[in-house]
Amino acid sequence: MDVRVGNGFDVHRFGPGDHVMLCGVRVAHPRGLQGHSDADVGLHALADAIYGALGDGDIGRHFPPSEPEWKGAESHVFLSHAGARAGARGYKLSNCDLTLICEAPKIGPHAGAMQARVAEILGIAADRVSVKATTSERLGFTGREEGIAALATACLVRP
Ligand code: MG
Repeated sequence: MDVRVGNGFDVHRFGPGDHVMLCGVRVAHPRGLQGHSDADVGLHALADAIYGALGDGDIGRHFPPSEPEWKGAESHVFLSHAGARAGARGYKLSNCDLTLICEAPKIGPHAGAMQARVAEILGIAADRVSVKATTSERLGFTGREEGIAALATACLVRP
């Protein structure tokens, strides 16, 4: 069996808006996240973790921000692409673990919906997906609520 692990990290800054997209779920918030796409920091980190496990670059390589085609794109497109790249090489996603780092919005009430949505995008069982969150104890840019960071790990297996 071939087992591969990858990590992903992403940050998006807050700007004007009335909601954020996190792990494919729309969460009401007095500010939005800025980005070329829908700025879904969770899905970006997870896509990069899968690309990383494959040694297959990162989101920016597959979906260059210089290409207007991806402006405002819904980030499930990126995650689906990463999952398909894994599948094409015979890998299944054994599990993934995602941590959102922010003071607000509170993630707990939405974590179940996020877990279900990530599983749906990747076509895997929800118990193979973990979505959790932490604050940074009011320290640093996440602590000052300037943006949201996300960390992800993905484990791919090929029988
Ligand atoms: Mg990003």
